[in-house]
Amino acid sequence: MSGASVTLVDRGRVRADMAYVVDGYSMGSAAEPNPDHEMSDFVVWCGVVEAGGRTYLFDTGPPSDAADYWPDPLYAAFEAYDAADHSLESDLDAHGYALDDIDAVVMSHLHLDHAGELDAFEGTDTPVYAHAEELEYAFRSAKTDEGSIAYLASDFDGQYNWQLVHEETHTLAPGFELLHLPGHTPGLLGARADTDDGTVLVAGDEAYVQSNYDEGVPLGPGLMWSEPAWRRSRRRLKELERRTDADVVFGHDLDDFQSGPTSWG
Ligand SMILES: [Zn+2]
Repeated sequence: MSGASVTLVDRGRVRADMAYVVDGYSMGSAAEPNPDHEMSDFVVWCGVVEAGGRTYLFDTGPPSDAADYWPDPLYAAFEAYDAADHSLESDLDAHGYALDDIDAVVMSHLHLDHAGELDAFEGTDTPVYAHAEELEYAFRSAKTDEGSIAYLASDFDGQYNWQLVHEETHTLAPGFELLHLPGHTPGLLGARADTDDGTVLVAGDEAYVQSNYDEGVPLGPGLMWSEPAWRRSRRRLKELERRTDADVVFGHDLDDFQSGPTSWG
């Protein structure tokens, strides 16, 4: 049987302070009391996975009108400056896919830079997979003063064919499974895909950049729901990587995205 295939689709850039992404970055010290802040470009991508005869979309990316649609303080901190040059439809088209080709959607989590064009599937029968804890936390965050400010109700408060994931590992098709990786958010989902080019482990926002994963440097406090959970999720991924000799895909690492492979199988 042939394996799954994975294609990463470039959905644009977000410019943000490295200190959000790498805990302790550019901290002051006696020798350097006022270090410069480093603004960096991060990639935003979505994935297309073909497995078991179905085509899955992994995340939907930022909206093309992020500059207007995102609350001003969030856009200022996470500037999706080229969002207007991107749309889910045109970015998929660049890889030979149409929205109609998508049989099911997997939402790694429901932050605004990942769920921005979920409305392409609103009112359709297309299954949308999300972890139960993510959906609860997203609604609690968007509808009350609790939780995180990075959820916009208008991204996901509509008529969707939600399929809740409850398990630590949820098999969607032979060679394609979802992994519950709490830490960045309570219900973050990563994925494992076994392709003819080897195993791909999608860490997603468990590791924004390679150093989060390789060196175990946590995300900054503003991007961390639970650091103990984050450390457990990282250890789980590391063990899976050792067992399968996988390629690991990070959530927003532009260098890795531009230098590494972006399609398998
Ligand atoms: Zn993200």
